[in-house]
Amino acid sequence: MANPLYDHLFGTHAGKDTPFLFLPDGTTLSHSAFLQQAARIANAVTGLGLSAGDRVAVQVEKSPEALALYAACVQAGLIFLPLNTAYTEDELAYFIENSGASLIVCDDSRQSGLSAIAGRLGAQVETLNADGSGSLTDKAGDCPASFDTVDRKADDLAAFLYTSGTTGRSKGAMLTQDNLLSNAQTLVKEWRFTSDDVLLHALPIFHTHGLFVATNVTLAAGGSMIFLPKFDLDRVIEWLPRATSMMGVPTFYTRLLDDARFTRDLAQHMRLFISGSAPLLAETHVQFENRTGHRILERYGMTETNMNTSNPYEGERRAGTVGFPLPGVELKVTDPDSGNTLPNGEIGQIEVRGPNVFKGYWQMPEKTAAELREDGFFITGDLGKIDEDGYVHIVGRNKDLIISGGYNIYPKEIELVLDEQPGVLESAVIGVPHPDFGETVVAVLVAQPGAAPDTRAIMENVGQSLARFKHPRSIEVIDELPRNTMGKVQKNILRERYKDMFA
Ligand code: ATP
Ligand code: MG
Repeated sequence: MANPLYDHLFGTHAGKDTPFLFLPDGTTLSHSAFLQQAARIANAVTGLGLSAGDRVAVQVEKSPEALALYAACVQAGLIFLPLNTAYTEDELAYFIENSGASLIVCDDSRQSGLSAIAGRLGAQVETLNADGSGSLTDKAGDCPASFDTVDRKADDLAAFLYTSGTTGRSKGAMLTQDNLLSNAQTLVKEWRFTSDDVLLHALPIFHTHGLFVATNVTLAAGGSMIFLPKFDLDRVIEWLPRATSMMGVPTFYTRLLDDARFTRDLAQHMRLFISGSAPLLAETHVQFENRTGHRILERYGMTETNMNTSNPYEGERRAGTVGFPLPGVELKVTDPDSGNTLPNGEIGQIEVRGPNVFKGYWQMPEKTAAELREDGFFITGDLGKIDEDGYVHIVGRNKDLIISGGYNIYPKEIELVLDEQPGVLESAVIGVPHPDFGETVVAVLVAQPGAAPDTRAIMENVGQSLARFKHPRSIEVIDELPRNTMGKVQKNILRERYKDMFA
C-alpha cells in the first residue's frame, strides 16, 4: 500500500540535503530537515489519539512549522483544514463546529477563546505561534524524527478547504489526494517547473493559491521556495534576485509596478511570473511587459477545483484571458437555464470536469447537488466565454450579473470602458435595487493618485460606447475598493453600501 500524495510530494525527498525553504533570517531548511520536522509532528498528533480521516483545523501564521504540519497531516492520513488568519473567534467557531475537527491548532493568543468550543466538540487544542514555538512544537520535540506513513488511496480525502467567502458564507470543499496530486503534476509540466526552480512565496498558506498551487507545485518539482511570511514590498524586492519564479495575486504586481525599485534589471533573470485568484487588468499585463519584458502568465482556478485553465508557457499569453483548459480538464460554457453548451463567443456559465474537481461541500448536500452535476461537471459560478482561438475569458461571477429591465448586464463590459477613462485607476460595477427596472447599474470608481475624474465627462463617454440600458445611473468615486485577503473585490459590500440609492 501507499500514500500517493505523501509519496509523490514529500516522501520522494527523504534524506535529501537539497534546499527546500529559504527563510527571511537567512537560514535554509533542507528537504530532509523539513521532513524530519513533519514526522515529529505526525508522531505528536497521532500521539494525541488522532487517526486517519480525523480533521485538524489549523489557524496559524505562516511559518515552516505550519507547512510541516500540513505535511504531517498528509503523512498521517489526517484531513488538513487550514483557516484564514483573519477569522475572528466567532467565525472560527463556525468552521470548527462545521468540520467536526478533533484537533485545533492555533496561536497562543487564541487558545483560551477556543477552548470552550473545543470542549463542546470534544476536540483538543494545541498551539503553534508565528515564531514556531508552541505546545505542538514542544510535543513534537520529544518525538522521533521518523513516522510510518499511513496508507491512503487516491480517492481518500486529504483536505477540507474553505472557499474565500466572496459571494456568501464560506463552504468547505472536500478535496481528495488525487485532486491535489493530479493538479500539481499537471502544473509542473505546463509551467516547466524543475528542481532548479526557486519560487518566491509571499502568499498566505491557508488558501489554495499559496498552499496547493505554489507549495505543491514546488514540492512535486523538487524545487525550493523563498518563504516570506507575507507580501512585504521591501522583502520581495530584496529577495527577487534569488528567485527564478513568482506566483501572486494581481495586487502583488500592481504594487511592484508602483515602486521605482522594480526595474527591468531586477526582473531580468526571472523565468516566470504567474497571476491568479482575481482578474489581472489587461493594463497591468501591458505595463508589466513594458517595464520588465516579461508577460505575466495568468491562470484560473478555485478552491473546489484547484487550477482549471492557464495561459500557455510557450505561445501567446493573452492579456485579459485565462488561457486554455489544462490537460485532463474539460471546460464548457453553458446556458444557465437549459444547461446546454453554448457556441464559442457566447457568454454563459463556466462548467468544469476533471480529476481536479472536488468531492462536494462538506455537510451541504443541497449545495453540492445544485453545483456538482451527476455527470461530474461542476458549475463554477463564474460567467465567461471561449473566443475563436480557444482562450477562455472570465466576465465575472454569476451572482454579480445585473438584470435590469429584463436585460442581462455583465459588469466587466462596463468596467473595461470605465478603466480606460482619464483619471480612473479602477472600477467596480454593481447592480442595486430599482423600483422600475428591478436592478440598475451603479459604477464605483477609484481615482488615479492625484487625479479627480470628471464623472460627467465619463458618463458621456460611456454613453457613446455602450447601449443605453448599460449606462450607470450613478457614478461614485471612493478611495479604494473593498478587497479580501486574496485581493478579490467584495462587491457584496458595495451592493450593501448603495442598496438604498434608488429605493
Ligand atoms: P466563495 O466561493 O466563498 O464566494 P471565492 O469564489 O472568491 O469565494 P475562491 O475559491 O478563493 O473563493 O476563489 C475562486 C474564484 O476566484 C473563481 O471562481 C473566480 O471567480 C476567481 N478567480 C480566480 N482566478 C481568476 C482569474 N485569473 N481571473 C478572474 N477571476 C479569477
Ligand atoms: Mg467560489
